[in-house]
Amino acid sequence: RARNLHKAAKYIVHDLGEFPFELNDLLTIPGIGRYTAGAIRSFAYDAYGPIVDGNVRRLFCRLFGIEGVPTTSAVDKKLWALADLLTPKQNNRRFAQALLDLGATVCKPKQADCLSCPLQTQCVAFNTGRVAELPTAKPKKTTPTKAGHFLWIEQGDKLLLQKRPDSGIWADLWSLPQVDETAEALSHAKLQGQFQHVFSHYKLDASVWHPLSGVSEPAGSSWYNKEQVMEIGLPAPIRSWIEKNWLNKS
Ligand code: SF4
Repeated sequence: RARNLHKAAKYIVHDLGEFPFELNDLLTIPGIGRYTAGAIRSFAYDAYGPIVDGNVRRLFCRLFGIEGVPTTSAVDKKLWALADLLTPKQNNRRFAQALLDLGATVCKPKQADCLSCPLQTQCVAFNTGRVAELPTAKPKKTTPTKAGHFLWIEQGDKLLLQKRPDSGIWADLWSLPQVDETAEALSHAKLQGQFQHVFSHYKLDASVWHPLSGVSEPAGSSWYNKEQVMEIGLPAPIRSWIEKNWLNKS
């Protein structure tokens, strides 16, 4: 914001010479979008300047019974078209303030105060019992789940760990060797246990397998005793699995 303000000030002084009045000129100022341009016109000049912010979106969706997520371009277009149409051509300050106040204090997101709303008789949502449904909520994102298979291979007082590739999850950290679900090692293995870990973009359903017959050491793997394991970089869920199942096991 500070950078944009500075940029805007320089642009106004050097390129425009004075603070602009026209909507289109206001929109050329760095950092000024449609809403801010409309607000400047309304509040600084008391002139025509449509404004659509979150509160106005909610109010319009309910008042006119507009379906669809308000931030999608089709609905956004409709809302701006309504604002363009309804905004008084002059002396707009009071209208703009009333619109913002109504959205913020009466047509509230959770508990719309419909009984004291001056628009109640015209309101489509109120008259059709859809106040709680409008505006349409964004569909919730579902986090995909991926399965991960890890090997638990102990020899004497040592555990076999494998260095992860230098990109992707847990890059460059040491982990239990991870194998594909079709790996030979899993065809004769006992499930030691499972854990879940949530990444920003997916959920990992991890299974840790104890191979019942000898498996060849995967590339980039090394043996570590309990003391050494404490010294190396391990992903948090792998570390807690190792602590629970090996380090803290009596
Ligand atoms: S009647 Fe209720 S839902 Fe309709 S505009 Fe007023 S406060 Fe919002």
